Amino acid sequence: MRQPILRFDMRFVNAYLLQAGDGFILVDTGIGDVWTKLESELLSRGALPERLKLVILTHGDMDHAGNCKKLQQKYGISVAMHQGDLDMVTTGAPRHRSANTFAGKLMTWMSSRMKDTSGCFEPNLYLEDGQSLKEFDLDATILHTPGHTSGSISILTPAGDLIVGDTLSNRRTPKTADLFEDESALKASLKKLQGLDAKTIYPGHGKPFPFEVFTSITKAM
Ligand SMILES: [Zn+2]
Repeated sequence: MRQPILRFDMRFVNAYLLQAGDGFILVDTGIGDVWTKLESELLSRGALPERLKLVILTHGDMDHAGNCKKLQQKYGISVAMHQGDLDMVTTGAPRHRSANTFAGKLMTWMSSRMKDTSGCFEPNLYLEDGQSLKEFDLDATILHTPGHTSGSISILTPAGDLIVGDTLSNRRTPKTADLFEDESALKASLKKLQGLDAKTIYPGHGKPFPFEVFTSITKAM
């Protein structure tokens, strides 16, 4: 039976909780100062203290990775991510990125001035393109989708749920990444996602939206 994906609105960034066998997997963790909210959500759903099997990071930006250290230290939870973003979470240094909108340029400028080392941590394991999550009791596959960052990943379930991190967003309206480390890699990743048999996009920011909306806004690419 298809289990719903729970979305936690961690102020302006999402964390998603997925049922995995008799436990759970958390995708992204929000910024560090929403820890109390994240912890109480996970406790109230029964995912903490013991049933959270794994945290998966869609990428290394600290607004997504801000609570990994606390989950590791307080509850012994393992954190998995793509190796391509390792330096971001171990040093807290944001990547240099480009933008093609004014809002994006403003975000690039602001994030280039922020270096937050308080949430730095060492991941426990690395995920690769095509990797199955069955060993964690989740029927889903990892897709390497670089562009926003070089280590960005997406997660696809057989039910057609597609968690994409910041490769797509829905702050006001669904769109492709405002900020990118590598524009041609981002385009290639969007093309790769277009070819999937998916139903719903779960972005890093804003509400989920239908897969057809994504294919229609990127049709010209
Ligand atoms: Zn990001």
